[in-house]
Amino acid sequence: MPESRFYSFTGTGIVGCSLCPWRCRLKEGMQGICKVRINHEGKLLLPFAGRITGSAVDPVEKKPLYHFRPGSQILSVGFSGCNLRCPFCQNWHISQSTDNEAPFVSPQELCRAALRSGNPQIAYTYSEPLVHIEYLLSCMEEARSRGIANVLVSNGTVLKEAAKEVLALTDAANIDIKCFSEDTYSRVLGGDLGTVLDFVRLAVEAGVHTEITTLIVPDLNDSEEELDALGDFIKGLSAGIPWHLSAYHPAWRYHGAATKAGRIISAAERAAEKLSFVYTGNIPHNPKRFSDTVCPGCGATLVSRSGFRADTSGLAFNNKQYTCVRCGKAAPIVY
Ligand code: SF4
Repeated sequence: MPESRFYSFTGTGIVGCSLCPWRCRLKEGMQGICKVRINHEGKLLLPFAGRITGSAVDPVEKKPLYHFRPGSQILSVGFSGCNLRCPFCQNWHISQSTDNEAPFVSPQELCRAALRSGNPQIAYTYSEPLVHIEYLLSCMEEARSRGIANVLVSNGTVLKEAAKEVLALTDAANIDIKCFSEDTYSRVLGGDLGTVLDFVRLAVEAGVHTEITTLIVPDLNDSEEELDALGDFIKGLSAGIPWHLSAYHPAWRYHGAATKAGRIISAAERAAEKLSFVYTGNIPHNPKRFSDTVCPGCGATLVSRSGFRADTSGLAFNNKQYTCVRCGKAAPIVY
């Protein structure tokens, strides 16, 4: 069974995991909060490494990534476990349980599957890939060596040392900033805002194409003050970072009414006063102004979206660079 690279001995038979801010101290036989790292005979072992609970070839828009290879498909894989406890988790069947059918897939097999699918890109997604970081790093290294892009969809909750390692191999990331309150992160979600913000900063510094998603939950994180502060944080990094504002729907242990479409749109309108690319999601009809990508130079539509379908006829593509068909300027889209 593979062994963690992120732990130390903290006492007789006790190991201390150093991957995420929980810093679990585990006696013999205990599993961490993430459920996938276990003290077995004084070693921190990874019984679920490479055990893939689900895979699909998805539109990249579904991650969501709107400014990375729009209109392409991506092999997407998920795993058991998560180091957060969001009570409205849409994927709680896999994030909060390890009782899932999950065959082992080696990094080499995963890369072969991506190439076979005709889409040289892999998304590590669905629950929380970073709690499987050792396997992730192996896959990412293998993928890089074969010209396959690595996409990370994550809650951004690991400490800096691990974050730097994984981000050095990541081409594009969608990172959840679930709210902008330390109290809500720790009390409701079981996470840590500061760690997530550090992760986002490190991603941008590392040159990873970064997009942010926030699930808007009524009366939890949707005050104008909180969303303004989150928008200011993103703008402080770059006003060009895409921000996806997505509607909550009842799931798992959270049964409040779903976020109304009007609330998502009004939040997007306010965010668009400070950020260049704001998108809405999880509502029946996304307004075109919050689903299409427009050329900052001439205002032409670069990418027109309907659901997860993307019409990229407004983009020209040459030498791995996207430009606007109408004005010829560089598009805010990466390959
Ligand atoms: S990664 Fe898992 S075991 Fe390690 S500190 Fe975080 S929750 Fe605990």
